[in-house]
Amino acid sequence: MSTPILCKGVVIREVAYGESDKCLTVLSDTLGCIAIFCKGAKNYKSKAFVSAQQFCYSEFELYSRADRYWLKEGTLINNFYGIREDITSAALAGYVCDVVADVTRENQKEPEILRLLLNTLYMLSRPDKPRAQLKAVFELRLCALAGFCPDLVGCAVCGAYGEGEPMYFDPKGGQIYCGSHKGSATMLSAAVVKAMRHSVYAPAQRIFAFELAPAELSEFAHMAERYLLCQLERSFATLDFYHNMENL
Ligand SMILES: [Zn+2]
Repeated sequence: MSTPILCKGVVIREVAYGESDKCLTVLSDTLGCIAIFCKGAKNYKSKAFVSAQQFCYSEFELYSRADRYWLKEGTLINNFYGIREDITSAALAGYVCDVVADVTRENQKEPEILRLLLNTLYMLSRPDKPRAQLKAVFELRLCALAGFCPDLVGCAVCGAYGEGEPMYFDPKGGQIYCGSHKGSATMLSAAVVKAMRHSVYAPAQRIFAFELAPAELSEFAHMAERYLLCQLERSFATLDFYHNMENL
């Protein structure tokens, strides 16, 4: 047997195959986003069982055979249990994992994206912040880390910062404009501009630390989602599912 490979990572997808086996998609710290094959992971007695479930952050011991990674052992670090107690949070976590799977690759280390994923899952496991806020912050920050960073510093034409004023955002180009150069861009209230700048530019440990009034939160959530979908140029079934749960 080959030398064991150790990594830590979050299970972002699990697919059953055969009678008791699973294939996990894991965003890992050292190998990027990888597929891990698990023999007997559906069996409750399996040591791998607790570490091989979606949203779990675990330490994995793997071996490589036939160009695939196989799970030898898994040790759970955090299962973010609170996510499973609320269907809306679970639906949102499913979407978050799908987006992460879309922008990460094998052998491409993404420590900042892994950190964002862990922070988002942690916040989703707690009731403190509105789900819509967690989602929007995640979407904007993820875009910024995945190479689709919007330029929110100032008006793309004249550089005006627009402190305390509404600004205008173009989700295709990822730029903001002042009132004089708005063209066909969408108006954002001053509080939403501030929230968007915070989501993109604040230090990683503080990205979720702000509050918005309900009307502004819904404007913020709408624009963050539009931006992500525009940039990634695709839709997500898990996003539709989240909206269905949210509207129940
Ligand atoms: Zn301007």
